[in-house]
Amino acid sequence: MSVQERPSRASTRKLKELLHKSENRICADCCAPDPKWASSTIGVFICIKCCGVHRSLGTHISKVLSLTLDDWSEEEMSLWLRWWKLLRQFNL
Ligand SMILES: [Zn+2]
Repeated sequence: MSVQERPSRASTRKLKELLHKSENRICADCCAPDPKWASSTIGVFICIKCCGVHRSLGTHISKVLSLTLDDWSEEEMSLWLRWWKLLRQFNL
């Protein structure tokens, strides 16, 4: 594993900071409170129930990662952040 591919603790810290913003405290799909998962390919926070649905779609559509259990790579983090900012821009 190269240095660039190594998971970044700073990245997951940034995600957790964003999760504490009021607009992110509910699941993007079903509005359940306190989501603990995120899709790195879509840029949303989701709950455990919707996590299963996203996983069934396949990682080419939605790559689900835990905010507490998984270490995100820089690439996953920047992709997630790019989508998250885009969705906020359009108020979605
Ligand atoms: Zn949900």
